[in-house]
Amino acid sequence: MRKKIVAGNWKMNNTLQEGIQLAKDVCNKTIPQDVKVILGTPFIHLTEVAKVVKGTPVAVAAQNCADKAAGAYTGEVSAAMIKSAGIEYVILGHSERRAYYGETNTILAEKVKLALENGLLPIFCIGEVLEERESGILFDVIKKQLEEGLFFLGADEFKKVVIAYEPVWAIGTGKVATPAQAQEMHAYIRQQVAAKYGNTMADDTTILYGGSCKASNAGELFANPDVDGGLIGGASLKADEFLGIVNAF
Ligand code: PEP
Repeated sequence: MRKKIVAGNWKMNNTLQEGIQLAKDVCNKTIPQDVKVILGTPFIHLTEVAKVVKGTPVAVAAQNCADKAAGAYTGEVSAAMIKSAGIEYVILGHSERRAYYGETNTILAEKVKLALENGLLPIFCIGEVLEERESGILFDVIKKQLEEGLFFLGADEFKKVVIAYEPVWAIGTGKVATPAQAQEMHAYIRQQVAAKYGNTMADDTTILYGGSCKASNAGELFANPDVDGGLIGGASLKADEFLGIVNAF
């Protein structure tokens, strides 16, 4: 049975003190046993938030890692460093990293490899921009992102990956995908996983939806058979709203 996951992506928000408080507020709420909750925090917050969540069902994710193992790469943070801070997950391939920091599928494949080599579980983001959807090439775009960013992995490595489908036109825009649009793409992604790794792997792969998901629309999105939870940006910054999403299954 695949895991249900709700992961927050705080992006570049919250001072350290605010982040600690938010993590405490989330951990103080009752979390359903069958949902894995993950807080994706800025690097500077990771160690402190890891202390807050210790002994709770909540896990922590970094929002990025370097595409190099170690060395003279000023300002970068390696997968090994993240792991050494007691962190379990890393978000990779977010559309903001792809668009603003030039992260290509090739770079992302390196990051995925390093994350897994260092014992981190990747939450790998894929998604099309509006023009790609409107011109009808959305499935080709997603296929390429999967093939180049993930499908080089052997089955033992791939089974550790969580996929997040995040249509770029829905991220931070308030324009959420319809439940039918989300289901259509999630089913396509699962078919691609099945074609590459087989039906059992496809059934076991968690595929999250991301893009303007909030407590009021999460229920109808999560009700789809192939939507296993969400990657949540803006709505993860308020504990009550975030927990509303966690409880929306
Ligand atoms: C995201 O950045 O991953 C995201 C889904 O953002 P938002 O929920 O704010 O659209």
